Amino acid sequence: MIHPDNWKQQLKQRLRCAEDFHPYFTLRDDEKKFFSESELHDSFAVAVTPYYLSLADPQDPRDPVRNQFMPSAKEFEIKEYESYDPLSEKQCEVAPGLIHRYRNRVLLRVTNLCAVYCRHCYRRGFQSPPYDTINGERLDKVLSFLSSNSGIDELLLSGGDPLILDDEKVLHIIDAVRSLKKKLIIRLCTRIPVVLPQRITRVLCRELKKRTPLWIVTQFNHRQEITDQSTRALSFLTDAGFPVLNQTVLLKGINDSEEELYKLFSNLVILHVKPYYLFQGDLAAGTSHFRVSLEQGLALYRRLKVSLSGITLPFYAVDLPDGGGKVLLTESSIIKKDGKWYCIKNYEGKSYYYPAEK
Ligand SMILES: *Cc1c(COP(=O)(O)O)cnc(C)c1O
Ligand code: SF4
Repeated sequence: MIHPDNWKQQLKQRLRCAEDFHPYFTLRDDEKKFFSESELHDSFAVAVTPYYLSLADPQDPRDPVRNQFMPSAKEFEIKEYESYDPLSEKQCEVAPGLIHRYRNRVLLRVTNLCAVYCRHCYRRGFQSPPYDTINGERLDKVLSFLSSNSGIDELLLSGGDPLILDDEKVLHIIDAVRSLKKKLIIRLCTRIPVVLPQRITRVLCRELKKRTPLWIVTQFNHRQEITDQSTRALSFLTDAGFPVLNQTVLLKGINDSEEELYKLFSNLVILHVKPYYLFQGDLAAGTSHFRVSLEQGLALYRRLKVSLSGITLPFYAVDLPDGGGKVLLTESSIIKKDGKWYCIKNYEGKSYYYPAEK
């Protein structure tokens, strides 16, 4: 019998500094350098749950899980086209943490805390201290936006990770928006099933079930993240009747092969999880070591399209820099490559530029 509060222990016992990792790993030079120089840079917080750490093979310095949570001095290398707000979310903020980019849906960042800080995160610029979580006053502003914008029919709860908050807080937020709009589709965007599956309890699922329509969107990036625990968490969610979608980030050296993505997506479908998006890397500051070139990404996707079934194949998409929004990537959506840049048109027909190399 697993104690229902086991997840809180996991959070308390997170590893956060070089000393915490020494008993488990021999740090690589670039990892050591991150810790010794992190004070000198605008560096992104480090935290990993003992559970997620345990998925990494300590003998393998290139382990795909390790590289998602262990920081590297490569993060200090910032390209001129990278940004701390690569999607220009600030421009679309209509209330604190409420991002309105598309006509009928809004995204609410309920906290800037996460269980694990993924090194490739595009919101890394928002997620360092001071930590903050939505309060009553901010929630009121969100409600007043929703009540004066009748065209919104979907709300994404995002962060940070909304499920780092306790049940009471999460349910309170959902109840507040639900009381305004009975049929509002709530999309809970969380990496918790991957990094802290103990958090998905039967009690939580029972309570969420009273608050449908609700969809879950998670982020599995590698097969190694599919474990007995994450499988159990996913089954609690699907048994409770929630559709579960997955967004994978295409990550160099982690999942950028046809074989890995084929197996990852196929295994997710077996667990009743629909691969929804495969994302081309965003231009977040200090993440160039994770980016696969658009050319390679397209070639990979072309092969996956032939080998995977319709329900197993996600959309390949990029969230354009400068707030261009999401666009599906196909050979025909990319207009031209003039030396260093690809030109991509967004849903409004405007042109945006994405670097040809990383
Ligand atoms: C990604 C995103 C959405 C949802 O887009 P879908 O294509 O419906 O998944 C909504 N709002 C914002 C701000 C987003 O970044
Ligand atoms: S859980 Fe999501 S928001 Fe949090 S660090 Fe990872 S990718 Fe970023």
